[in-house]
Amino acid sequence: MRLAIDGGPPVWTSAWPEWPKAQRNLITDITETLESGRWAVSGQWTGAEPVDLRLGRKFAEYCGAKYGLPVDHGSSALMISLLSTGVRPGDEVILPGLSWVATASAIARIGAIPVLADVEQENLCISSSAVVQAITDRTRAVVVVHLYSTMADMDALEEICQRHNILLIEDCAQAYGARWNDRPAGSIGIAGAFSTQQGKALTSGEGGLFVTSSDEVYKRAEMYRGDGRAYPSDPPAVGYPALSEHDEVQGWNMHLSEIQATILLNGLSNLEEMDNKRRAAASFLDGELRTRLSEFFQPVIPYPQNRVRGYYHYVIKLRQSAWSGIDIEAVCKALSAELGMQSHATYIPLNQNPLLDPQRLWGNHDQWDLSRFELPNSESVRNSSILLHHSVLLADDDALNSIIVALHKIAVCQDRLRECA
Ligand SMILES: *Cc1c(COP(=O)(O)O)cnc(C)c1O
Repeated sequence: MRLAIDGGPPVWTSAWPEWPKAQRNLITDITETLESGRWAVSGQWTGAEPVDLRLGRKFAEYCGAKYGLPVDHGSSALMISLLSTGVRPGDEVILPGLSWVATASAIARIGAIPVLADVEQENLCISSSAVVQAITDRTRAVVVVHLYSTMADMDALEEICQRHNILLIEDCAQAYGARWNDRPAGSIGIAGAFSTQQGKALTSGEGGLFVTSSDEVYKRAEMYRGDGRAYPSDPPAVGYPALSEHDEVQGWNMHLSEIQATILLNGLSNLEEMDNKRRAAASFLDGELRTRLSEFFQPVIPYPQNRVRGYYHYVIKLRQSAWSGIDIEAVCKALSAELGMQSHATYIPLNQNPLLDPQRLWGNHDQWDLSRFELPNSESVRNSSILLHHSVLLADDDALNSIIVALHKIAVCQDRLRECA
């Protein structure tokens, strides 16, 4: 048996589902917005409800929060979460050592200090005991990241944050549709931040969504988003500016355009259906890993309270004892070649990630030093996990089965990968 990287026949040669993909009625919806005379949140009032407001309302419903606020990027949703809940320059904010760099850089952008805490091996999310160890009298908030397909231990984190009077903020960029018992991701902390960048499960190319159930936090969030402006309580006269000016906060323009909001509103209409499809495919793969491939691989192990999963990447963990001396990048490369799609390793832990460098930042770089953090679990996860993008989970049964066949083939031929190390 020859691996595809050595010129052997690949396991799967047909196409994988496209991502992103325009869903039904998208062009009609966009045309309607283009003809509405309103392309921006800050445009003039037309008498019709802005797409921005409708999307905010619908998305809040989707994740069980009182308010939803569309923004220009997930990074902005994070900044707004921090600013509108009262995090200030010099405050320490704890986050997991394993996340996309934006979780940390959003904290740095508002002048707060990112403090890295290690993750749990089983579910790849921030460890509550590591959080406790990272708390100082300057800690103002914890930004929990529900990474790839699992939620962090929200019971423990809620309790810790309450006991220490610290804000709990959720980075839900990767957790659409996930639930902790009956509570959707984003509705548990004081604020939740979602990204709608192209790779995410709900997308407008670039964009984000902020959610909260606090009246005060929402009001401030709206003003931070709009250069200090917000919708007035009574609609303005037709033809007049839709937003009114307040002198309460120093904001920026972080509005999403009405056109992007239209794309999201359209995507939201079948997000649940897609969530369910992804879940069914993931549970098939989980079962196969546990039964047919358990000698070599295992799925991640979510907390039982994480009753409903949301998928950004499907994670396949190597049983490290069965893969000694083999580089994770070599496994990913071999799998990608068998399947004709990209699989890859996790993020590089943030204490070693070249995309995060306090020395290159303006501002408070002298107050934090990434070399002080040790993140053994994050490193171990980095060296033993394979990621498949969520669009793969929309494939048909034969394609899904080919993933299992390809993993088996690579496991059987693993000596060949040892030679490349
Ligand atoms: C995508 C992502 C972000 C940032 O979102 P942008 O829309 O790219 O600014 C933040 N955190 C996590 C965990 C993400 O996956």
